[in-house]
Amino acid sequence: MKTKLKKIEAIIRQEMDSTGAQELLLPALQPLELWHKSGRDDLMGEVMIRFNDRRGRQICLGPTHEEVITELVRESVSSYKQLPLILYQIQTKFRDELRPRFGVVRSCEFIMKDAYSFDRDQAGLDKNYQAMFEAYKRILTRCGLRFLSIQADPGVMGGSESAEFMVPGESGEDVVWYCKNCGFAKGLTEEGLSSKQIPCPSCKGKMEPLNTIEVGHVFKLGTKYSQALGGRFLDEHGNLQPMVMGCYGIGVSRLVAAVIEQNNDKEGIIWPKEISPYKAVITVLDVTDKENLDAANSLYESLKKERVEVLLDDRDERAGVKFKDADLIGIYLQIIVGKASGAKGGLELRLRSSKEKIFVKKEEALKKIKELLVV
Ligand SMILES: [Zn+2]
Repeated sequence: MKTKLKKIEAIIRQEMDSTGAQELLLPALQPLELWHKSGRDDLMGEVMIRFNDRRGRQICLGPTHEEVITELVRESVSSYKQLPLILYQIQTKFRDELRPRFGVVRSCEFIMKDAYSFDRDQAGLDKNYQAMFEAYKRILTRCGLRFLSIQADPGVMGGSESAEFMVPGESGEDVVWYCKNCGFAKGLTEEGLSSKQIPCPSCKGKMEPLNTIEVGHVFKLGTKYSQALGGRFLDEHGNLQPMVMGCYGIGVSRLVAAVIEQNNDKEGIIWPKEISPYKAVITVLDVTDKENLDAANSLYESLKKERVEVLLDDRDERAGVKFKDADLIGIYLQIIVGKASGAKGGLELRLRSSKEKIFVKKEEALKKIKELLVV
């Protein structure tokens, strides 16, 4: 079994690789000198964790990696022939948050996927930015999330254009204006929540405040970092040009929280198919019934052979307790082996999300289960 965190990482890797991005792993320990060069040491303030190593060098724990990646690419790319380039990593980031809350939503260390694009010109950046934007939509959709994207202020990253991916959820700290009618959304401005509902530019609907969790952010950085850190290349005419950059982040651990926030009911979590830690759980209603226990064991072995991640609940507990636990942990498909369906020569399948019950004959069970689990 892979944890849901690993499953989300796998989805992200697939979608990043499909854009042609290459994975690497950058150091978490960074020389503070790079942050002096970019001018962001002061900007980061107390959020960045700094210390001296035993040789007295100033070090920081990376809250983000624009400086380090620009330094790396500066050393290894010299010609336009080596561009474009998209690099990404999945790594722990560190931020000394004053008020950490909600476990993984805002914590002092968290896992992020961060990608960086390097291009010869603005047209190249526009293309890669769009490719990343589309990849983010696919990632969030595969994670079973409803989300919105809004134009955002580039803030401390700098650059010309940026967009945030927001997941609506009650615990979300970021409030956006949202139009139910057409889906238009924009960030909350200084007018604040007290302002009157404002009409939407594209339709007659009223904008209303909506609590959201920010899960992704994409930026067109332009040449801010390549200028500051000397990330230049020789163009086809032999002139030195600064690389045109973009950066793209997704909060991986935060996505887990967002998925649970949007996918639950009073019984427990409802894992979307691709993230469910186990895809299926076989519940044996009465383990003293040898015939049904054998049938369950045999199905369990067959599913494992087919590489289905499956859990077998053969505890000597009441059926009600087992159903409750299966609902609570939210495994995508419940397979129920019991007397009633057994007498009819089959078993019962139940989807956690819709509670839909499907009776299936024993000889067709394997095929049907695999069908339901295909993504
Ligand atoms: Zn509207």
